[in-house]
Amino acid sequence: MKRNHFLKLLAFAPLSAVGMKLTEFHKAGSEMGNSVRMPILFVGHGSPMNAIEQNEFSAYWSKLGKELPKPSAIVCISAHWETRGTFITAMQKPKTIYDFAGFPQALFDVQYPALGSPEIAALAIESISKTAILKDHEWGLDHGCWSVLNQMYPDADISVLQLSLDYTKPMSYHLELAKELSFLRDKGVLIMGSGNMVHNLGKLNWSNPNSGFDWAIEANEGMKEMINTGNFAELTEIRSKGQAYQLSVPTPEHYLPLLYTLGLKNREDELSFFNDKLQMGSISMTSLMFNKIV
Ligand code: ZN
Repeated sequence: MKRNHFLKLLAFAPLSAVGMKLTEFHKAGSEMGNSVRMPILFVGHGSPMNAIEQNEFSAYWSKLGKELPKPSAIVCISAHWETRGTFITAMQKPKTIYDFAGFPQALFDVQYPALGSPEIAALAIESISKTAILKDHEWGLDHGCWSVLNQMYPDADISVLQLSLDYTKPMSYHLELAKELSFLRDKGVLIMGSGNMVHNLGKLNWSNPNSGFDWAIEANEGMKEMINTGNFAELTEIRSKGQAYQLSVPTPEHYLPLLYTLGLKNREDELSFFNDKLQMGSISMTSLMFNKIV
């Protein structure tokens, strides 16, 4: 853990720790850093209905929520929050946002009342040097975030923040910015990108919900191979890789959260994929986790 990050942790220390000698606290912090490093997730969120349906995808989200160490907080990078500049939610009580239409009332009835964390927002703003992160008090939790968390952590008893996607920036910016969020893992914060690696709503195949077009399969497999080899810079030039990728990433917003997850990986992390399926021709639910090898 970098020293400046460690010192900022003092702001989160329980009162009982204030009386500790700094050397003792430093030692405790180092040990904590070794023991609570959280995994990093990229989750293919797909249909908003996954928030309330019981299916193979939501079942895996629920399983993750039960099996992962309980996070101290969650920072979500959702496909559904694009801004000019990079913002982080800084309100105490983020509202549930229903950023979709044409779904059953049951989906609009979902409330995800997790608290925010102005403290972690402030820490992120202080700690990131690549750009000036701006405080947001207007957004909340969009469905890219809460549809997954409603299954993972249905009690909504963990603070949740969102970091926005600056749509004015090149893909490489997002990969680099993510690296500066890495220290949050050592504070027990779960960082989750939420989008879809293959996402083309204009090409949806309604007649065959559990399959993928050939180009979608090709791109999904190709991306997994690039992720496996660890050449993430290649993934920032995805649309130069040919027609299958141009069809799979027609716009960047569902792809960019993946780059945050990749940027957070370090050498000690082991990669695993889950929910690796194509849906309705042109959506991949393929998701991944980096977890420290123990
Ligand atoms: Zn989406």
